[in-house]
Amino acid sequence: MNELIEYAHLHGITSFISLYHAKYRELRQRHPTLPSHYIVTACRYAASIYESFIELKKMGVCEKERPTFKGQAIWLHKQLFKLDVEGWKVSIAAHRGRWVTLRLLHGRYHDRFKDMKLGEAWLVLRDDGNLCLNVVFRQTIVLPEIGADAKVIAVDVNENAIVYGNDDFIERFETNEGIIRTRYFLKRRRIQSKIRGKGLRARLLGKYKGRERHRVREIYHRAAKEIINKAREVGATVIMMEDLRRLNEEDKGSRELNGRIHRWSYKRFQQILEYQAKLHGLNVKYVDPAYTSSLCPVCGGELDLSSNGHRLMKCQRCGLEEDRDVIAVKNLVKRHYEEYINTENP
Ligand SMILES: [Zn+2]
Repeated sequence: MNELIEYAHLHGITSFISLYHAKYRELRQRHPTLPSHYIVTACRYAASIYESFIELKKMGVCEKERPTFKGQAIWLHKQLFKLDVEGWKVSIAAHRGRWVTLRLLHGRYHDRFKDMKLGEAWLVLRDDGNLCLNVVFRQTIVLPEIGADAKVIAVDVNENAIVYGNDDFIERFETNEGIIRTRYFLKRRRIQSKIRGKGLRARLLGKYKGRERHRVREIYHRAAKEIINKAREVGATVIMMEDLRRLNEEDKGSRELNGRIHRWSYKRFQQILEYQAKLHGLNVKYVDPAYTSSLCPVCGGELDLSSNGHRLMKCQRCGLEEDRDVIAVKNLVKRHYEEYINTENP
């Protein structure tokens, strides 16, 4: 892979076909007993790695001179492996037409893939010494149509909780994400100031960064599961979330670093929830979040901070007093139905 990437870099090649034509014959001669698909696949991935490197470079988010492939992985074309999902074994094509068979560790989680279409795979040797087989599975899901009478559940995410519901119910899932992130932030700062050795410091920082990410992701998965269970229980077919790309300029300026981290987190959670929702046959709809936290969901009047509690908002017009997350959820739900009232051809 690195030889191919190096070659692509030297000759400015980003297309698989060009790289293949330039290197295939030579590599084939050097590895005559290996199935030729290995070379083809390596050319394809090397070209795509170099192509995305060029793109990152254009965007100015990559400082490196050239890309390197650090992982220890073998990409497997469909013809290079046979997966037996009943017996959980994989056979991989090796030298001189032989096949190597590996037994796969698996759990109940993997049973869901049994009926899906098989895509490509790659064999990865991880840092901890474990050998992993990553496989792409595909499934086609037909989602129900969204109509004016569809039952929806709206989801709002704040620093420490995920709030979801509709006009009939509101649920809160405490994530304590802000608390967790602060704790890890302090831990990292202690490491920065106390550990002198550069290598050890980097290793420790990396370890805690990984733990933090893992922990937050695990919480997101639990929250997504709870929301989907609730949606099925109440017969909702649409999950609604804020379209974060549509934040207006005012919002971008007023929220500082905290806001950026929060939006990034929200985005991660949205990806997890969207994937899980679609897998369970639920639609996902993103709506413009403008004014969802500043207007009254009942009368449309302007909201003010209430004097009765720090997360409470009060409507100046109709007197409604409600938690700000609940207001956001109700406004998102309202936005769904408004679409069908305001358009002439619903
Ligand atoms: Zn009101």
